[in-house]
Parts: sequence; structure tokens; C-alpha cells
Amino acid sequence: TIQGSVTLHNGVKMPQLGFGVFKVKNGSETVESVKKALEAGYRHIDTAAIYGNEEGVGQAIRESGIPREELFITSKVWNTEQGFEKTLQAYEDSLKRLGTEYLDLYLIHWPGTDKYIDTWKALEKLYTDSRVRAIGVSNFHVHHLENLMNHTELKPVINQIELHPRLSQLEIREYCKKHDIKVEAWGPLGQGNLINEPTINHIADKHGKTAAQVMIRWHLQNDIVVIPKSVTPSRIVENTQVFDFELSLDEMNQIDSLNLGERYGTNPDENL
Ligand code: NAD
Repeated sequence: TIQGSVTLHNGVKMPQLGFGVFKVKNGSETVESVKKALEAGYRHIDTAAIYGNEEGVGQAIRESGIPREELFITSKVWNTEQGFEKTLQAYEDSLKRLGTEYLDLYLIHWPGTDKYIDTWKALEKLYTDSRVRAIGVSNFHVHHLENLMNHTELKPVINQIELHPRLSQLEIREYCKKHDIKVEAWGPLGQGNLINEPTINHIADKHGKTAAQVMIRWHLQNDIVVIPKSVTPSRIVENTQVFDFELSLDEMNQIDSLNLGERYGTNPDENL
């Protein structure tokens, strides 16, 4: 299996490199790519109710024969299911589709407007009832995190946000570090947009690596959990071959300097 894990503030260990399945079609595309990922050594899968492929992820897990406790499965409650009772039900629905008894990590997918406090209280209940190993959030700005922590008991273990060399999210990273909340990067390759970026490719050539591998390595060396997505078998494997080289401080700085605060996805304040 793939090296490296982070320890969440509740003591749960999470593989630092995972496999994302956004936009992977339910059915054979999901089953085949998740099986390929598990074969390649990934033990952490990132899905969401809204991706519509939890059944496929579940089927791949069962067909892989890998014991459930060796896997780390994340899913997320979608915007329309926010609120206390709806979220409790959404969790059961995700479990049923995945064919599993528990999730390792359940996230609020987007903050939205005002319901995320009640949604979080449902996640707290699932956690205190030992139904889920860890609970966290996604797409939370600092102001969302502050408001959440001012009005609830448990603090999120992780915040999954858009993060890549063009959007390095320094403010949220610093805030999360101070509060012992891990940061997880979605769109770590800029959703594919950064594959031809010249500085990254120059660094990649020096190491005999690819741009994707250099970007994944940049996340790992920054203590960020990273979940690149691919449905191409060779790239699924390529994206795991990131533990046999190291970026120098100078190379890390060169990649840091690409930050433009540029999003490929939606600003959480505008996804209401
Ligand atoms: P990504 O940055 O992982 O980019 C994926 C794309 O990059 C692929 O479709 C492919 O075009 C390209 N690619 C991947 N590996 C490559 C390689 N080795 N060489 C060349 N090209 C390669 O983008 P993503 O899928 O949006 O993000 C990763 C995961 O994050 C998702 O699958 C999902 O699980 C999660 N996510 C979460 C949210 C959220 O709101 N929480 C939003 C988007 C994505």
C-alpha cells in the first residue's frame, strides 16, 4: 500500500494520499477505476452523495476483497440534505449505497448559508454514537470555521478545500494549523489545468517525474492530504509514485510563487 498517513486531532490515522472520484460515472467506470486504485495501493477513497457513484465505490471495495478496516472511506452530505434530521438520514443513505456499516470521515460538502450549524450537530451525534470515525467540513472559509466552532461542541478534524499551486490558500492553512485542523486539497492538479504549467514541468524534468507527480509531492511536503482523480489506469498508478523523490526548499518556493488566488471551482461564499 501507499506510504504515509496523517493523524487527525481525534487520533484517527488517515492515508495522506487518496483517490478522488468526482465526475467518475457510476457503474463500470467507477468500479474499474476504484479497483485499479486499490490494486495500485490506494487505501483512501474520496466520494460524495452528489457524485452519484457511492454504489460503484462500494462494489469496487467488495470485489477487491480488501478488509473494510484497511480502508479509509470519505463521503459528504449534500447541500439539499443539510439540517439535523435530514443529515442523519443522508448518512444512512450513503452507508446503504456504499454497502458499509460506517464511514471513516463524513464531511459537510459546502457551508451554504445558515444550516451548517444544525448539520454539524447531526455529525456530532453520529460521532458520539460511534457511527463514524471522524467528522469534518469542506469548502469552509475562516469565517465559517469560526462561526461553527463558536456554536458547537466538537471541532472538525479536517477542512477539504480547493488547493493547488495557483490557489495556495495560505490564510485558511494558517488558521487550520493553529486549531489542529488538517487541510485536504481538492482539485490538487487544478482539475487538470496545471499539467502544462512551465515551472512545474521544469522541476518535473529535473527529477525525471511528471507535472502531476510534482504537484502531488508539493501537497505532501506541505502536510496536506491530497486526493487526485483519474480514470486512466496508467495515471492512477503514476499519481502514487510520489514517495521516491523530494522537492528542495527552492523548488517548493518556486511552486509557492505560482499562487494567484485563482479558483477553477466555485467560491464557497457564492455556492449558497
Ligand atoms: P484533480 O485536480 O484531481 O484533477 C483531475 C484531472 O486531472 C483528471 O480528470 C485528469 O484530467 C487530470 N489528471 C489526473 N492525473 C493526471 C496525470 N497523472 N497526468 C495528466 N493529467 C492528469 O481534480 P478533481 O477531480 O476535481 O479533484 C480531486 C478530488 O477532489 C475529486 O475527485 C473529489 O473527490 C474531490 N473534490 C471535492 C470537491 C469538494 O467540493 N469538496 C470539489 C471537487 C473535487
